Amino acid sequence: MLLALTVRRDGLQSSHLNPPHSGGGRRSQPKYRTGIGFDAHELASGRRLLLGGVRIPSRLGLLGHSDADVLLHAMTDALLGAVALPDIGTLFPDTGAKWKDAPSGLMLKDAYQQVRAEGFRLVNVDCVLVCDRPKLQPHYLAIRTSIARMLQVPLDRIGLKAKTTEGTLLALRRKSIAAMAVVLLARTRSRKPGVRTSNLGARRSELR
Ligand SMILES: [Zn+2]
Repeated sequence: MLLALTVRRDGLQSSHLNPPHSGGGRRSQPKYRTGIGFDAHELASGRRLLLGGVRIPSRLGLLGHSDADVLLHAMTDALLGAVALPDIGTLFPDTGAKWKDAPSGLMLKDAYQQVRAEGFRLVNVDCVLVCDRPKLQPHYLAIRTSIARMLQVPLDRIGLKAKTTEGTLLALRRKSIAAMAVVLLARTRSRKPGVRTSNLGARRSELR
């Protein structure tokens, strides 16, 4: 009552104080959500190099518990983060045999299923690979096509570029590959109240 009187005196509409997308209202459900993901893995001999589910010819591959697809890991975290779900290390822990050498595409698809269950679909994703060797530009189309197929979205929703560090980042120089991803999601329906599909009780650990 006090608030209502104050609003009238100031000549403000209630929407100015509590706009529909401010997150302040109990029923506020933003139409769009963004998410960011980052990952890095060490390069080593005797491993395959997989990026976006595509085998890249290389003397060195990435070390990890799963297939170490650093690009898909960053994308998975971006999707999960956009709807404030737990991160990849929590949902897909590196303990036990389940995710040992597992295709990271399974994690990406599972994460996107959870995003869809939250009432969102992917608008687009943009990714950066930080990698001095090998050169990745010849593989852009194959990687984008692979990711688009996994998520069942048109190819033009998947942005990708690779950047070298020119040797300026010694930690990365030919010793590791890092990936960043940003996603935009659009709401497809209101989220129904209830228990989320994610395993919130899982042990938190870094998927490597
Ligand atoms: Zn990873």
